[in-house]
Amino acid sequence: MKTDPDVIVIGAGGGGPVIAKELGERGINVLVVEAGPWYGNKKWPEPNQNRGKAKMSSDPGDLDGSLYRNQFTRLENDMNDLVTGKFRWGSADRRRTPWYRNVPDRSFLYQSAGIGGSTVHYYANSLRAFPQAIDDEWPINYDDLIPYYEKVENTLPVEFAPTTSKEALFYYGAEKAGFPLNQTLDVTSSGYRPQPNAILPPNEHLMDPDVSLEELSHMEGCTLSGHCGQGCPYGPSLEKMAKRSTNVSYVPLAMKTGNVTFRPNTFVMKILTEDSASGKPRATGVQIRDTWTGEMEELSAGIVVMAAGCIETPRLWLNSELPHNDWVGRGMTTHYMDMVTGTFDAQTLMEILGSPSVNPFVGHTSGARLDYPGLGMIENLGESPGLSAQQAFGFSQYGYNILRGPGSDKWDQRGRLTGSELEEAMNGYKRSLTLLIVTDDEVQYQNRVELDPNIKDEHGPVPFVRYTPSEKSKKRRDQLAKVATTMLRGAGASQVHRSDLPPNYYIHIQSTMRMGFVVDSSCEAYQVQGLYIADNSVDYNALGGPNPTLTTQALATRTAELLADKYF
Ligand SMILES: Cc1cc2nc3c(=O)[nH]c(=O)nc-3n(C[C@H](O)[C@H](O)[C@H](O)COP(=O)(O)OP(=O)(O)OC[C@H]3O[C@@H](n4cnc5c(N)ncnc54)[C@H](O)[C@@H]3O)c2cc1C
Ligand code: SF4
Repeated sequence: MKTDPDVIVIGAGGGGPVIAKELGERGINVLVVEAGPWYGNKKWPEPNQNRGKAKMSSDPGDLDGSLYRNQFTRLENDMNDLVTGKFRWGSADRRRTPWYRNVPDRSFLYQSAGIGGSTVHYYANSLRAFPQAIDDEWPINYDDLIPYYEKVENTLPVEFAPTTSKEALFYYGAEKAGFPLNQTLDVTSSGYRPQPNAILPPNEHLMDPDVSLEELSHMEGCTLSGHCGQGCPYGPSLEKMAKRSTNVSYVPLAMKTGNVTFRPNTFVMKILTEDSASGKPRATGVQIRDTWTGEMEELSAGIVVMAAGCIETPRLWLNSELPHNDWVGRGMTTHYMDMVTGTFDAQTLMEILGSPSVNPFVGHTSGARLDYPGLGMIENLGESPGLSAQQAFGFSQYGYNILRGPGSDKWDQRGRLTGSELEEAMNGYKRSLTLLIVTDDEVQYQNRVELDPNIKDEHGPVPFVRYTPSEKSKKRRDQLAKVATTMLRGAGASQVHRSDLPPNYYIHIQSTMRMGFVVDSSCEAYQVQGLYIADNSVDYNALGGPNPTLTTQALATRTAELLADKYF
């Protein structure tokens, strides 16, 4: 176990483990402190019941795939319940309530605490930004990012998703709507394509009747079992699990460098600084709180990297009383989302797929996409039944469909479904295709994370999160909803339902500590020497619509290089 780290990284989600691995490979001693628990580590065999004897782990031999398998189940509620689920936003100790964030209006802030962070429940779609969203917009060019994209794509690794029935139907609908196949990772025009995805290709025995599904799930490769959103415990060992969330990809690689230690169950309360000769404060370490015992401690390091995510990184800056910057917590984007679901007759499906059902739960949760530079993108979503019912039919800004009618001749239903309407929709679940609309929303100064003036928890004033889409974003989302509907109708859907999600459906949060405003182009804070950021918050904008994590990971890789060159 290493002591006196050179660098402390705060948060082990999408970005933290990436910068830790890159620095560790350069011989730099790193401590990653993570607020949530660690699944799949022998030192914490019962992460939610027992605090465990150890405080940290740096030996890759501590990682245990069988333990991970037992801890991650296929049950939606067991994993995704917001209070008791393994992926909840809160401490490992389930006797305590989840951590509170104040969000006005109907909202769903989807975030997970633990080693792997929100990537444990992400769908692993690993996209490059649209070049037009970077060039002449960001302080760096798209070409600057390409070598780092390539490095992350090779490390995770990123592969093209295989086609199951729902992707076949998606491609069919996209072609009927007149879109071409996109054949490049650097997307400049609209078109459909298999999802570039951080999921290992299916095992070669997948269709072999002599190999059972149970046997397959212990082998290397995706089993198309469709539980990506419940985590993925399928593979021969922890580091070979099919879905490449950072806890199974970058965390083991970081540990193998021999220079990186991870400390779970540790909430950073404050960044510590001292005056420096440069005239601006210099980061010197962090104040931490053990989430099981409440014990507080101070840890020192020459460099501190914030990777606590788009809500907690600005909260931590503000709670640490770091120098005032007008853009801390400001300009938040959230890829303003919607969902459109088509239900098909068995006969139509027979003609297109040669099968009377789509079975959305089979295969990667989201294996196909339509990129539409200028508007955003559309991808398929094959969540399991409970999550589908909740997200596609149970959450809306439109109110109840039965009370308001469809609201447009484009959709047969719009808004929340209950009673017989919900029953009918779920009866058609196996014959349905849900399209997730991901809008490239505009950066607006008033969309923000700030400190709640009235409410505190054990880690200080809680974040207050506010987001209202601009008129331009609303128009873009409506246009994408129409494109998605045209795809579904073109493919022969007999019934189309639009969810009309509320704006506060937070999944792809970005840009609360923007490059060029809070950090410079190497992601070092303008106002605090030796303080870096390596999470989604440094994104200058919403990337044009593509899913954010690959760009965060490419930036974290680049930041490690620039940080090491400057300070080591
Ligand atoms: C259902 C779902 C599906 C998604 N699918 C995709 C997808 O397919 N592709 C994609 O690109 N993106 C996807 N995303 C988004 C993706 O999860 C995020 O882009 C990514 O995880 C963000 O990385 P991050 O490092 O910014 O934050 P996070 O991954 O949230 O990590 C932050 C970490 O910091 C820890 N932390 C916070 N505060 C503190 C503190 N004070 N002290 C110590 N630790 C702290 C947290 O516990 C957490 O582990 C999805 C999100 C959801 C919810
Ligand atoms: S479909 Fe998803 S959950 Fe199933 S094995 Fe593949 S990556 Fe894992």
